[in-house]
Amino acid sequence: MTPKTETLRFQAEVKELLGLMIHSLYSHREIFLRELVSNASDALDKLRFEALTRPELLQDGGERLAIRLEVDASTRTVSIRDDGIGMNRDELVANLGTIASSGTRKFLDSLRARQATDAPELIGQFGVGFYSSFMVAEQVVVETRRAGETAGWRWSSKGDGEFTLEEANDLPRGTRVSLALKPAVDDDQDFAEPAELAALIRRYSDFVAYPIEMAAAHFKERGDLVKSTAPDGLEVARLNSLRPLWSRPKEEISAQEYADFYRHVTHEYSDPLETIHFKAEGGSEYTALVFVPSERPFDLFDPSSKKAQVSLYVRRVFVMGDCEELVPTWLRFIRGVVDSSDLPLNVSREILQKNRGLAQIKKHLTKKVLAALGALAETRRADYLRFFRNFGAVLKEGIVGEAEERETLASLLIFQTTHGDGPTTLVEYVARMQANQKAVYVLVGEDREKLARSPHLEAAVAKGYEVLLCTDPIDEWVVERLREFQGKPLSPLDRGELDFVDDARKSEIEGLEREHRTLIEAVEGKLSGAVARVRFGARTTESPAVLVDEPHSVGRHMARFLKETGREAPERKRALELNPEHPVVCRLIELHRDDPQSPRILEFTELLHGQALLAEGSPLPDPTKFSKLIAKLMLGATA
Ligand code: ADP
Repeated sequence: MTPKTETLRFQAEVKELLGLMIHSLYSHREIFLRELVSNASDALDKLRFEALTRPELLQDGGERLAIRLEVDASTRTVSIRDDGIGMNRDELVANLGTIASSGTRKFLDSLRARQATDAPELIGQFGVGFYSSFMVAEQVVVETRRAGETAGWRWSSKGDGEFTLEEANDLPRGTRVSLALKPAVDDDQDFAEPAELAALIRRYSDFVAYPIEMAAAHFKERGDLVKSTAPDGLEVARLNSLRPLWSRPKEEISAQEYADFYRHVTHEYSDPLETIHFKAEGGSEYTALVFVPSERPFDLFDPSSKKAQVSLYVRRVFVMGDCEELVPTWLRFIRGVVDSSDLPLNVSREILQKNRGLAQIKKHLTKKVLAALGALAETRRADYLRFFRNFGAVLKEGIVGEAEERETLASLLIFQTTHGDGPTTLVEYVARMQANQKAVYVLVGEDREKLARSPHLEAAVAKGYEVLLCTDPIDEWVVERLREFQGKPLSPLDRGELDFVDDARKSEIEGLEREHRTLIEAVEGKLSGAVARVRFGARTTESPAVLVDEPHSVGRHMARFLKETGREAPERKRALELNPEHPVVCRLIELHRDDPQSPRILEFTELLHGQALLAEGSPLPDPTKFSKLIAKLMLGATA
């Protein structure tokens, strides 16, 4: 009986993606090989990992796992075969018929928006590696059998919107991806040439931990390749060196090799921003080769992907990818590998969570990464600023959530500032502080331009004090948790009392408050519910009034966050601070002196409160009423 062939349609996104792959991406087509070899290597990793708990998946413990390339120049077919985990029918349909990743839409959008030549760097990042085969192939056939199952499957597609699926008997375990190549477009690069494939493997996939082999018959002239007889009897040449990059001495490794390895582990196309490679001895013995990426992944803040992306090896054997126990979530942008010399090989996730050796590695690796970031900040400022734009908000999660590294993390922060020379660190800020300055002044808000014009800055700027302008949503918590830096308190200018008003000025203001108590009470009465209290103050020099949070009141972002997450926010307590020297406030004082019952006092009150709200970028409670009052004022002024 011939097996039944089904025809299925690709998910719309896949169809669109394939259209773009086939019709717009012409450069860097060779990356298809790296992508397919990476998938094969991942499949072998997964098999090895599953076999830890199900040893029957590997026929015998010593089984040799490998990746095999086959090429037939006469029919222009290339295939990549692995004896890894394989896929069953459902996995095949899900993995190679849809794009599970929620970022696909974004990927497609970026692809459409960019020049086609820029596109390859986006490919791996969005997990569409397999589909890159359609850049070079007219037809792709995938034959696969999942480890531990008997039925095999043949998937086939021309990349034109549909694929066929049929059951296939007698397939070996694992997967073979066969490409019927398009005619070569470039005389210098024909993927049906064994020498070309061998060169691409050397270039992109040398450090793959499994042998990548091809029939030795293709390489009769090459004495440099290791040749052997594979278990199926074929004489094969090994194309990769099998020496994991991290196990080699640093001095021997070129920047190019590091970058290629980075691309192998991340599936990205760009270069890493920083490479951190060291061997730890003494406590836990391990080697780490981790990278700070230069691009920000699209899903950095996606709650479902807040995982560390560092793989764990034990004595060069892959144990698990995305090992959360190796780096804290606030370093989740770090990519790479850790190879331990003293952990047990058959570790499960449950064991890992309690493993002391691993906890030590995490602690030590965290320190090393922070030290490398510190060095980057000092020696390569532009790169560090780029890093911070991409990942600074993630580092800040560490300040909020963790006490241990808080001071180190604080010194890595970059802030916008009122100081002229661009973004600053806290260390630089402290070095620039005025002799009489008691605190690090900060102002938190949504928009840098608005903050720079905020009335809250007036008195501090008049004194010549620098102010940090914080616009990340998390900054309010950062300031609250950090409290101080190098013994200097962090003081938000829109909260509590100012610490730089001198005593004479303070008692002068208190005197004025006593003198105008009834006016202040009248204003307070009018604004009851909107503000907690009204007072005179020295926070502004040019604005008549400003709103200030009471010392322990919940802040603006916190209040909004609680509201957005459906939680009840404690009432935000704010004071309206009037500048007794401002002509408008002086006018209000006069009005009250002449006639404490004057209805204009109430109008002034509403206008002053409205102005203070507008100046900080907050909405007005009743904009219609406010504009009517302004109109009235204007008419009064022109009458
Ligand atoms: P990515 O590898 O980035 O996840 P791909 O489109 O290359 O994206 O592959 C999609 C999925 O298909 C993989 O995550 C994997 O589950 C499965 N897959 C691809 N190639 C193989 C293979 N050789 N063996 C087993 N599974 C594979």
